[in-house]
Amino acid sequence: MAERSLDAVVVGSGPNGLAAAIALARAGVSVLVVEGENEIGGGTRSAGLTLPGFTHDVCSAVHPMGILSPFFRQLPLAEHGLAWLRPRASVAHPLDDGPAVMLRRSLDRTAETLGRDARAWARLVGPFLDDPHALIADALAPLRVPAHPLRLLRFGLRAGWSANRLARLCFRGERARALLAGCAAHSLLPLTQPLTAAVGVLFAITAHVEDWPVAEGGSHAITRALASHLHGLGGRIETGRRIERLEELPNSRAVLFDTSPDQLARIAGGALPPGYRRRLERYRYGPGVFKLDWALDGPIPWRDPACRDASTVHVGGTLEEVCASERDMYRGRHSERPFLILCQQSEVDPSRAPAGRHTGYAYCHVPHASTADMSDAIERQVERFAPGFRDRILARHAMGPADFERYNPNYRGGAITGGIADALQLWNRPVTRLDPYATPNPRLFICSAATPPGGGVHGQCGYWAARSVLKRLAVSADRARTPERRAGAGGRSASRR
Ligand SMILES: Cc1cc2nc3c(=O)[nH]c(=O)nc-3n(C[C@H](O)[C@H](O)[C@H](O)COP(=O)(O)OP(=O)(O)OC[C@H]3O[C@@H](n4cnc5c(N)ncnc54)[C@H](O)[C@@H]3O)c2cc1C
Repeated sequence: MAERSLDAVVVGSGPNGLAAAIALARAGVSVLVVEGENEIGGGTRSAGLTLPGFTHDVCSAVHPMGILSPFFRQLPLAEHGLAWLRPRASVAHPLDDGPAVMLRRSLDRTAETLGRDARAWARLVGPFLDDPHALIADALAPLRVPAHPLRLLRFGLRAGWSANRLARLCFRGERARALLAGCAAHSLLPLTQPLTAAVGVLFAITAHVEDWPVAEGGSHAITRALASHLHGLGGRIETGRRIERLEELPNSRAVLFDTSPDQLARIAGGALPPGYRRRLERYRYGPGVFKLDWALDGPIPWRDPACRDASTVHVGGTLEEVCASERDMYRGRHSERPFLILCQQSEVDPSRAPAGRHTGYAYCHVPHASTADMSDAIERQVERFAPGFRDRILARHAMGPADFERYNPNYRGGAITGGIADALQLWNRPVTRLDPYATPNPRLFICSAATPPGGGVHGQCGYWAARSVLKRLAVSADRARTPERRAGAGGRSASRR
């Protein structure tokens, strides 16, 4: 294909860039993806960060939104090598006293660990479990008339509060409150802010629909499958080609940026009006993360061995402690007892480590562009619930905000989810516009996690951006539908337990 004939170029091959390219290619649009790194994948790559034989996920690790993504679910990703491996539980939340709280697919088995709040938990999430995909489709979309308005309204009435408030309103005991707090802390917001309950409840619902899986072999299997599918549809990918100026791109009718808003402003330069560029530059990225990867000579020695069932362990204690940790980082302080998102991929996927050995991964939220070394605080928190943990460490690898930004320029100041997703910036990202994916230049679009519905490996930002492009290119309905029908007939990604 001569470059002159290209319909669309996508800058960046993260999950959203590839999803956008696939959605375009399925509509018969010729598309080229240009990636700055030598390897595709953005926040969905894996690497041997510690010792030979150990595979670590550099960024994303556990993928409830990936397996449940309305767009990914349409794609034949299993045929392209993606196998989701499910744990026996999505989340373990250890506490100082008593057994860990376990979030399992079964409501009854989850309830067993919630004590007196068992019925309250079922009342909170149960009403959404008869058709959860409808709710997830509306939640993973830009602001629009929802496809299932009553369901979304019902969800909003429960989940419009702050997580702190909802936990105290719904639950009387520490255990359910802590579980909701851990799920809500994925928002990277103080848990006293509105909408944090929505994040907590939505994550909890996903765990009752699917056990939060890892990708066999490493998270890079997700973007490799997307890339392979894209190739099959005729799309092309070029790696090792970082774009600094618009003029470096081949001619095309549309350009989609899987980049941070500041990069869009810089690369597009005078092709965008100064007012719009200023608004991109004012975009709020928010807190960063500090992450450790470990090569371990055995499993994490949790005081409650049930924790080994979970792909994700929320380490941070009670609702009050999780709230304090997240409030601190938002106010520019470093918590002495940070809340951790800990993933134990090798418990689910033995291919990640040599026989009998394990990988571990944990990160905490830190202030934007923090330079603090949180290694000791993180390991102390794990040791608190898994005495003897430090003795299992064969090697460790640390990444702070500056490392993440070097690794991927989208992670400004170490912010990993495409920017703050509070009530002011969740749907109005990157700027307030009727169509947030379009820019004032009819040729330029943005499709990264800095657009709705925001961070996570789900490809929905790319999918919705591609729809915006297709409207602009006025691809005829026939041309758009035919390949979709073909691809829509494909199977789902393989899943194994
Ligand atoms: C530590 C960490 C843990 C995470 N954990 C999870 C998790 O467990 N589950 C989950 O769902 N999500 C997780 N995430 C979030 C998830 O990785 C991101 O939200 C997701 O990758 C965003 O996808 P994207 O396509 O918008 O951008 P990215 O994945 O950031 O991809 C952007 C791509 O564009 C390229 N690029 C940027 N600028 C240019 C340029 N100028 N020229 C050419 N190429 C360019 C980059 O190199 C990159 O490959 C995590 C992220 C981090 C960092």
